[in-house]
Amino acid sequence: MERKIIAIISGKGGVGKTSLAASLASLASKENGINPIILDCDVDAPNLALILPARSENEINSLDTYTTLKAEFIEDLCVHCERCIEEHFCEFEALRWDAEKKIPKIDYLACEGCGACKVLCPEHAFKIDTVKSGEIISYKTKEDKAFVYGKTKLGSTTSGKLVSDMKEFAKNLPEFEESKLVLIDGPPGIGCPVIATVSGLDFVVTITEPTPSGLHDLIRAIEVVQQFNIPFGIIINKSDLKSGFQDGFNDYILETGFNVIGKIPYDINIPRAMSFAENVVDFNPESESSKAIKAIYENLKQLIWS
Ligand code: SF4
Ligand code: SF4
Repeated sequence: MERKIIAIISGKGGVGKTSLAASLASLASKENGINPIILDCDVDAPNLALILPARSENEINSLDTYTTLKAEFIEDLCVHCERCIEEHFCEFEALRWDAEKKIPKIDYLACEGCGACKVLCPEHAFKIDTVKSGEIISYKTKEDKAFVYGKTKLGSTTSGKLVSDMKEFAKNLPEFEESKLVLIDGPPGIGCPVIATVSGLDFVVTITEPTPSGLHDLIRAIEVVQQFNIPFGIIINKSDLKSGFQDGFNDYILETGFNVIGKIPYDINIPRAMSFAENVVDFNPESESSKAIKAIYENLKQLIWS
């Protein structure tokens, strides 16, 4: 069996991506004895770790990443001319004047590290440095699965780079060579972290809900995946939702001919499982949603390994 790297993404958050990722990871182990490596690439708001805690706090590894550029002010070189403010060196409004000290102050969160202040200050009183942009955290879960997640530091501008670094990190794990499945809980949206997540993958699962906003965001997510020519399939969560939009949604899916891997009905067991920090297939294996996710897992297996 060849190793496959797959991701679950969604055009927007809150449609069941993380819950599905945790359930599929559990099924891969229980149904096929595959111990997947799991990545949470939702680096701006990672939460899969809540369902997949470490088997031991002492085994949690953390690696700082330094990919964000920020300006630094060198006070000794400043001659207090105030040109940086008067001539509006910073397009990002990250420079403020400290009238008392007669020096500029840098707003760390607003600074984009563009380097304009460094170039424009006649006294070279600014320099640009890489600063800590996030962390890559890794450990073995209680179920003995290798798990990696990333956390972007507030104000960092390089969450896509953090995702790329996480994927490289996972390839260097001792478990990688033997692993038959790398399962990525991707970020929502269509920005840099999503692009970094899907590039180079074997398959992408896009999860959505049958609502106008669900369809709108699904189309955007699919547009991203299609740019990379990666095979993909759709999962419709809360598929029995009486939204008044079912027909429009179903018509669109039929017209496009997109591959629907499965449908998950609305099931109170999913939020209940989440409130106990569990995935639904372990929490209540006989629930309607668990049965649907098992069928999805079987379809997915066919799609990626046949
Ligand atoms: S940082 Fe440069 S431009 Fe700004 S006040 Fe100091 S010397 Fe003048
Ligand atoms: S590096 Fe760019 S964004 Fe940051 S303070 Fe300087 S001019 Fe502004």
